[in-house]
Amino acid sequence: MKEEKNRIPCICTLPLLPPVGQIYLEKVVAPVITSFIGNKTKTKYIVALNLLGPRMFNKNVIEKEFLVQKYLNALTDLKVEADIIWRDDKVNGLLITKFITKLVSLGHITSSIKEIERCDCGIVEMLYGVSDEKSNRSLFEARADGRFCQVCKGKVKKHKEEVLLFKLPEVSKDIKAHPRFFEKELKQMALKYSGKHFLISKNRKTAIRFVFNGKEYGLDVDFVWQLYLVDLYEKGFLPQVVVASSHNLMPYLFVLSLYKILIGRKILFVVHPLFFSDKHQRLLGERFALSKLISKFGAKSIRVWLASNINWNRKSSSLNIRELSLLSKMDYRIHSSENNFATFESAISSINGQDLKKSLSLARRKKGDYYDINFSGVV
Ligand SMILES: [Zn+2]
Repeated sequence: MKEEKNRIPCICTLPLLPPVGQIYLEKVVAPVITSFIGNKTKTKYIVALNLLGPRMFNKNVIEKEFLVQKYLNALTDLKVEADIIWRDDKVNGLLITKFITKLVSLGHITSSIKEIERCDCGIVEMLYGVSDEKSNRSLFEARADGRFCQVCKGKVKKHKEEVLLFKLPEVSKDIKAHPRFFEKELKQMALKYSGKHFLISKNRKTAIRFVFNGKEYGLDVDFVWQLYLVDLYEKGFLPQVVVASSHNLMPYLFVLSLYKILIGRKILFVVHPLFFSDKHQRLLGERFALSKLISKFGAKSIRVWLASNINWNRKSSSLNIRELSLLSKMDYRIHSSENNFATFESAISSINGQDLKKSLSLARRKKGDYYDINFSGVV
């Protein structure tokens, strides 16, 4: 094991699913904000990818690599130049077995006979009675005559069998998040779910198999990626910040718990506001196709547009496309000064949409004069 001081500090996205088809603005927000913080603090940043999940399940290698490359190219076009790309499908199975074995020996993973709800293809598989979990909800359709899998269209049936369970430890005291109201929300979630058991084995064949008490289990692929900070630590990194949206906070608890149990370290979570269009719609659809936005307005304007709309005091933010058009017309006034922040907290607070907006309107008014707008780390 490397000494702490020889490790490479890094900032990571949560593992992201590369979009199938057109890449819309919504799908790149977290990596862009990760790049802001990385640039401002001169810290290496990592884009993590989730490729073992159900949506990539039926894709062959060529299709999968095509989607990965298309997504990474889109990020590069937007000046997100990650130092490392972490992929859950490249994780060493033996290493995962080592982590799981340790979790078993520490008593965090146990086997037990439980009632399971499952469809024929096995994409839907959950503990009976906890089907309100967000991660499962999008996988099935609830109808009057039962629940039906979105993939195989089959009915979700009850089974009684031996499964692997992960018990979520009490981590509320270890949670550090920006902004503070998300820290509060995460702490409340941690208290609510601590001591609860979560299903981490699957009946269907998954990429990682684990033998426990002579029985072979398929490990839940979500549980595999939730070990990603541990895996990065094994590779010589020192993950310090995780950036993601507030869309689903539950994975944060797993990521933190596993990092805490296996490595004994904590992490700062940066929960960015959700961005919507000025019509309160999600940033999906042709209007927000990234390639079109970049060719029309340029990557620099888009990055400044996102940064100048971050308001850490709110859970969501609306983006006005007219403002993007204005920005692209005055982007010759936007510069990046060399600015190195000593702490993550100060770097994050410096991405302050309200301050940036003031500078922009001042620059607009001072048309004739030279006016340098400081967008360090952003452009
Ligand atoms: Zn199914």
